Amino acid sequence: MELNLLTFLYLIASVTFIVGLKMLSHPASARSGNLVAAIGMTLAIFGTIFLYEEDGVRLGNYTWIFGGILIGTVVGTLAAKRVKMTAMPEMVSLFNGMGGACAALISLVEFDHLAHVDPEMAGVLLMGGAESAIKGFLLIIVLGLIIGSVSFAGSIIAWGKLNGSIKDFSFKGQHIFNILLLAVIVALATYLIVLLPANAVIIFYTIFFLSLLYGVFFVFPIGGADMPVVISLLNSFTGVAAACGGFLYDNKVMLTGGILVGAAGTLLTILMCKAMNRSLTNVLIGSFGGSATAGASAGSTVGTHKEISLSDTAVLMSYASKVYIVPGYGLAVAQAQHACHELEKLLESKGVDVKYAIHPVAGRMPGHMNVLLAEADVPYEKLLEMEQANDEFSTTDVVLILGANDVVNPAAKSDPASPIYGMPILDVELAKHVIVNKRSMKPGYAGIENELFFRPKTSMLFGDAKKVLQDLVAEIKNL
Ligand code: NDP
Repeated sequence: MELNLLTFLYLIASVTFIVGLKMLSHPASARSGNLVAAIGMTLAIFGTIFLYEEDGVRLGNYTWIFGGILIGTVVGTLAAKRVKMTAMPEMVSLFNGMGGACAALISLVEFDHLAHVDPEMAGVLLMGGAESAIKGFLLIIVLGLIIGSVSFAGSIIAWGKLNGSIKDFSFKGQHIFNILLLAVIVALATYLIVLLPANAVIIFYTIFFLSLLYGVFFVFPIGGADMPVVISLLNSFTGVAAACGGFLYDNKVMLTGGILVGAAGTLLTILMCKAMNRSLTNVLIGSFGGSATAGASAGSTVGTHKEISLSDTAVLMSYASKVYIVPGYGLAVAQAQHACHELEKLLESKGVDVKYAIHPVAGRMPGHMNVLLAEADVPYEKLLEMEQANDEFSTTDVVLILGANDVVNPAAKSDPASPIYGMPILDVELAKHVIVNKRSMKPGYAGIENELFFRPKTSMLFGDAKKVLQDLVAEIKNL
C-alpha cells in the first residue's frame, strides 16, 4: 500500500519536473516553473525517506539524513541569496560538480557493497546464473563512476577558471593525451566488467582516479569564453550519471530526473554551439577566448575613434523615431538595468519607439540579459532576438550599445583569423548611428580588438553604464 503511494509520489514528481522545465522556457513563467519542480523534488525526497522500504525495513538513519538536509539547505540558500548575477555560471558549475560527486559516491558505495560480498569479487563467478546480472549491475556502477567523476572534476576546474583562481593550461599534444587517457579508462572498465578479475578493487579505484584526472585535463585547455558550453555539457554528464543511480536503485524518479537533466544539458549545449556557429569539437579543442587571444592589445591598432558628448547623445536619441538598445556584460556589471528602463520609458514618452536587441551569448550565461531586464520590469515583448533585431536595424535611427563588445564585433563576419570568426553578431552597423557606452577601449571577454569602435558611424560614450544612463536621463529631461 505504502509502496504504491510512493510510486504515485514519484509519478507526480516526474510530471512536475517536465511541467517545470516547460515553464522555464518563458521568462514570465520561469520562477513558477522552478517552484513547481522544487515541490516535486521535495515530494520525491520525503517520500523516499519515510515510505521506501526494503524487506519490510524503512531507511532509518534520520539524524544523518536530516543533518545532511539541514546543512545543504543552509549552504544552498545562503549561496543562492548572495551570488551576484554575473557569478551565476560559477555557481551553476559548482552545484553541477556536487551532482557529479554524488553520482560518483553512489557508485563507490554500491561497489563497496558488491565487493563486500566477496572482497576479491571472485565470489561472483560462483554465483552461476547470477553472473550476468552482476555484470549488468557493475556496468551501471562503473558508468556512474566514470561520468560522475569526470563531471565533478571538470566542473570544479570550470568553477576555478570562471572565478579566475585557475588559469587556462595546455601542453603540446594534450588532445592526444586526453584521448589516450579516455581509451585507458574504457579499456580498464571493459576488462573489469567482462572478466570480473580477482584484483577488481584495484582496477575499480584506478578507473576512479583516472576519471578524475580526465575531468581535469578535459576542461583545462578550453578557452574562457567557451566555458558556458562546457558547463552545459558537464551538466548533461551529471544527468546521465544520476540516471545510472536511478537504474541501480530501480528508482523511477531518479531515472526520470537524470534523463531530463541529461537531455536538457545536451540540447542547451547544441543551441549554444549553434548561437556561436561552431561545432562542439571546435569548442572542445579550439581556444576561443582563451589565453592565446586574451593578450590582445587594449590600444587601437585599426585607427582612431571619435567620442560623443552626453548632450549630443540626448538630442540624437530624443529626436529619433526608432532606437535599439544592445545590452551586454557591462550593463550587468554596472547594475544599470533600472536606469536603462527609465531611459526607455522617457524616450517612449517622447514618441520614440525603443526596443532591445538580445544576442544569445550576451553577458555571461544563457538568458543573462533577459533575466537582467526582467528584474527591471522591462516588458518581454520589447526584447527582440538576434535574427529579428537584425531585420530591424536598417530602419533604426540610433543603436545604443551598453557594455556589449564581442556580440557586435564585425571581425566575427569579416576576419577568418579571428577566434570569434563565424559567430553570428548583431548587425548594428546597418543603423544610421551607433553609440557605444563602455569605460575604455579595452577588449571584451574574447580579448580581441573591435573594429566597430573605429567605424565612421560609431561614436564612443565613455563611462560607467549606470552613471552615463542616469546623466543621460537627466539631460533628456532638461531638453
Ligand atoms: P563582452 O565581455 O564582450 O564586453 C563587455 C564590455 O563591457 C567590455 O568591453 C567592458 O569594456 C564593458 N564594461 C565593463 N564594465 C562596464 C561598466 N561598468 N559600464 C560600462 N561598460 C562596462 O560582453 P558581451 O556581452 O558583448 O559578450 C559576451 C561575451 O562573453 C562573449 O564573448 C561570450 O561568448 C562570452 N560568454 C558568454 C556567456 C553566455 O552564456 N552569455 C558566458 C560566458 C562567456 P570596458 O572595460 O572598457 O568598460
